[in-house]
Amino acid sequence: MQNTAIVGAGPYGLSIAAHFRSRGIPFRIFGRPMDSWQAHMPKGMLLKSDGFASNISDPTEEFTLGRFCAGLGIEYSDTGIPVRLDTFTKYGLAFQERMVPELEDKQVTSIERSSQGYLLKLDTGESLTARNVVLAVGITHFDYVPENLRHVPAEFLFHSSRHHDVEQFRGREVVVIGGGSSALDWAALLEEAGASVQLVARQAALKFHGKLSGQRRSLWERIQRPQTGLGPGWRSSFYANAPAAFHRLPDSLRLEIVRKTLGPSGGWFVKDRVMNHVPQLLSHTVEGAEVKERKVHIRLRAQDGAKREIRADHVVAATGYRVDLERLTFVSSEIRSKLTTLGGTPALSSTCESSVPGLYFVGIAAANSFGPVMRFAFGADFAARTVTRALAKSLSRKAELVPAATAVGAAK
Ligand SMILES: Cc1cc2nc3c(=O)[nH]c(=O)nc-3n(C[C@H](O)[C@H](O)[C@H](O)COP(=O)(O)OP(=O)(O)OC[C@H]3O[C@@H](n4cnc5c(N)ncnc54)[C@H](O)[C@@H]3O)c2cc1C
Repeated sequence: MQNTAIVGAGPYGLSIAAHFRSRGIPFRIFGRPMDSWQAHMPKGMLLKSDGFASNISDPTEEFTLGRFCAGLGIEYSDTGIPVRLDTFTKYGLAFQERMVPELEDKQVTSIERSSQGYLLKLDTGESLTARNVVLAVGITHFDYVPENLRHVPAEFLFHSSRHHDVEQFRGREVVVIGGGSSALDWAALLEEAGASVQLVARQAALKFHGKLSGQRRSLWERIQRPQTGLGPGWRSSFYANAPAAFHRLPDSLRLEIVRKTLGPSGGWFVKDRVMNHVPQLLSHTVEGAEVKERKVHIRLRAQDGAKREIRADHVVAATGYRVDLERLTFVSSEIRSKLTTLGGTPALSSTCESSVPGLYFVGIAAANSFGPVMRFAFGADFAARTVTRALAKSLSRKAELVPAATAVGAAK
């Protein structure tokens, strides 16, 4: 019997599917595998997360990034050697082939409530019912461009997730807006691809992560600042390793921590490439932009109030992601209206279930509930184990009560 539909085939969806498989939980999973990584991050990017924190979760930790790299002779270290985007993408695709062969590369175009739970429609025209739905849609629907820039045509101004190939901007003047890791990666990669780049950020100073040594650390160093999937330190250790305990904190404290933890910063490996090669306009806010004679004119205001205008052929808005449930337009407005929220994101139970029974959220949409780890691949292990445990339990209960319960299947 199948009872669950997983929507999304990034690190979270694939991890959950691998765990369901091993527990015999019937499911179908939909989505283009590793799509965010294949098509929505700049080619040549290096991951900010260390190797050991970039695994997709399978129950026996059989198929780690380290093992994948060893099998192909790709240079790898738990810390100290940045993971290349193309390595991580290939790892995700190999994970899918080996651990989740049943993946269906189809888009879910609508989800509605039905008498059997949920009715899902696919872009192939097929319909199916499912008792539970796990939304593992990641960042894909939540790219954020400030209101005052949204009117600029996409040919001139685009969110950093809209292009993958930086080479097409060779010889062009490009302004990158933002001071976080996407902005810094884009700026460095564009400059290296032969574009003329300028970085504009609100911050007075850019921040970069420190490099973790690949060397073995002393016991004292490890006690003082334990290494974790979210970086070193005891706070990070709590956020990385105890999402269930984080869930028990008061709502206001959780929101405050998620807002303040791991703010905009680049990887250590991008520092020199940006600081020594990319012109920067820091402490500047973008007030607006207009296209005139095929150039984007960007109006800026400095912290002291001084105004100026700069011009470019293209603007990359590396302005991040904001979870906004209204943007999940494939989920019916009836379902969306029934979701209890926490800071604009779904308020989740300790099993990742929303206030709409049988509808689960994982990944960035679950960060206000379980903490900052949900924004990273590292959180997929917790999410997969938690959702699997909950559904295995409910399945065994239902199997006792309703032996031939409704299966996921084609709707007539
Ligand atoms: C530039 C950049 C760099 C990053 N670097 C790191 C890093 O170094 N380390 C790290 O851990 N994290 C990093 N992240 C965060 C990263 O996005 C998350 O860790 C990761 O993607 C979470 O996995 P996910 O499965 O939740 O989401 P995603 O990887 O975004 O996967 C979501 C999937 O859902 C699918 N989907 C969406 N809607 C539908 C639908 N209607 N039907 C079917 N499928 C659908 C998408 O196609 C996609 O495949 C980075 C993010 C960005 C933007």
